[in-house]
Amino acid sequence: MPTEQTGYDPSLGRKFVFVTGGVMSGLGKGITAASTGRLLANAGFDVTAVKIDPYLNVDAGTMNPFQHGEVYVLKDGGEVDLDLGNYERFLGVDMTSDHNVTTGKAYQHVIERERAGDYLGRTVQVIPHVTNDIKRRIREAAEGSDVCLVEIGGTVGDIEGMPYLEALRQFAHEEDDEDILFTHVTLVPYSKNGEQKTKPTQHSVKELRSIGLQPDVLVGRCEDELDDATKEKIALFCDVPTEAVFSNPDVEDIYHVPLTVEEEGLDRHVMERLGLGEEALPTAERENTWRELVTRERTGEVDVALVGKYDLEDAYMSVHEALKHAGLEHGVDVNVVWVDADEADGAHRERLESADGVVVPGGFGSRGTEGKVEAVRYARERDVPFLGLCLGFQMAVVEHARNVLDWKDADSAEFEPETPYPVIDLLPDQHEEVDMGGTMRLGAHETSIEPGTLAERVYGDTACTERHRHRYEVNPDYIDELETAGLVFSGSAGPRMEILERDDHPYFVGTQFHPEFRSRPDRASPPFVGLLSAVLDATDPRGGADGTVADEEEVTA
Ligand code: GLN
Repeated sequence: MPTEQTGYDPSLGRKFVFVTGGVMSGLGKGITAASTGRLLANAGFDVTAVKIDPYLNVDAGTMNPFQHGEVYVLKDGGEVDLDLGNYERFLGVDMTSDHNVTTGKAYQHVIERERAGDYLGRTVQVIPHVTNDIKRRIREAAEGSDVCLVEIGGTVGDIEGMPYLEALRQFAHEEDDEDILFTHVTLVPYSKNGEQKTKPTQHSVKELRSIGLQPDVLVGRCEDELDDATKEKIALFCDVPTEAVFSNPDVEDIYHVPLTVEEEGLDRHVMERLGLGEEALPTAERENTWRELVTRERTGEVDVALVGKYDLEDAYMSVHEALKHAGLEHGVDVNVVWVDADEADGAHRERLESADGVVVPGGFGSRGTEGKVEAVRYARERDVPFLGLCLGFQMAVVEHARNVLDWKDADSAEFEPETPYPVIDLLPDQHEEVDMGGTMRLGAHETSIEPGTLAERVYGDTACTERHRHRYEVNPDYIDELETAGLVFSGSAGPRMEILERDDHPYFVGTQFHPEFRSRPDRASPPFVGLLSAVLDATDPRGGADGTVADEEEVTA
């Protein structure tokens, strides 16, 4: 049984790989960890991950994607850091909100318990109460897996990170040495005369050791592989064996990192060190799909315009990845052509017109919405394959109302509350809830799909379950009138319209949900695969530009 003193339950015997970062953030420690996890999964282990975000926000739901990158949505509706998206894509697992630990969550829980009198009059402190809560969360998230990767966001030495490093120090004492491994990812820069410099690494390891943590493995992020001399120097100064120092050189595509990690032998080292070597599948029997997929020969390339707000490309990470996955499925490279929505009818018009397909992604706030409507209009009128996601779906409805039905001032009530045609609005029973603060429709919900529609061909089914993050809906009062002159709602969930398509266009699909969050390298998202089928069909010089989705087999993934 766990005790209040340590929060430790020794009956839960799993392996933990802790990943900290040094020198600077944004080094890709999440990708390094996820890649190692992919290889452990290939070797037959159940792998999961926990991302720790040392900020005070309870979750990422309220965070600005143009400062922090996309808000990733989990099956259970959790709004989390985009790193969880990488873990889901690399490990091929579905996670829950419990896999994103934040300082906000830990403190909120401890304070609630304090108010409820759970601490029986004791002084409530960071150590042990907050640190115990952190350890409990890590252990609970790891339940049911063989190996749990735990990534601590930020850089060693950050004030916000201190309670976590202290929690890990305690954790290390509570578990067997063989069950935990500390990996530290740092930067190895080049000096002007081309020498690999180890001083930043030495300093950050010194910082770790001053907190009582000794890394077992060091990974040097560098433009190139680390020289033997560099590895030896790091080993000597940081007190690890040379075999425990690994390179993680820059690669063109993050999906190649598992291949580099494997070449370096990092996965083998981790398995041996955690005593998993014997249980691992022999190399010949390991799962190989990842390697086959990411090294598959590409027969061409296509350009897809992504019409968004371009303050930060990471704000559209999952859409970008989903396009890549659809490309893997079709054996082509997808170049994303970034089109600033504000410039869709101006400076970026040429970029929009240069692309073979158009994606209008999700978003909040009115900035850029007029440009998005213009991009929809362009795709509709010119028969360019189109996919609208969430706000993109809503803008497709607005565009149809304004330009096809001639309801000139039609709009979403989110942007123009006084519009005479609120074709996108809150559902009647939502109005009251909005005043109370929370109404976002989040997470996985089922959509029924009309038989005989493009949506049915794309999904190869009459239902799909996809993740949501929105507040506004197609206004039920207008559905009948909207469904004239080409527009068809082919997917719905009760009163909510979920998928639209046009019967006067080669591939015009909009989804109120976000299919990009379920897309994986080996399980590309059907609407994205369908988009690329149509693009390839239209650009195939041997003909086939008959305006239909290429081949049902191809689009059902
Ligand atoms: N702002 C829109 C809504 O709340 C769309 C949300 C989104 O694109 N994720 O309904």
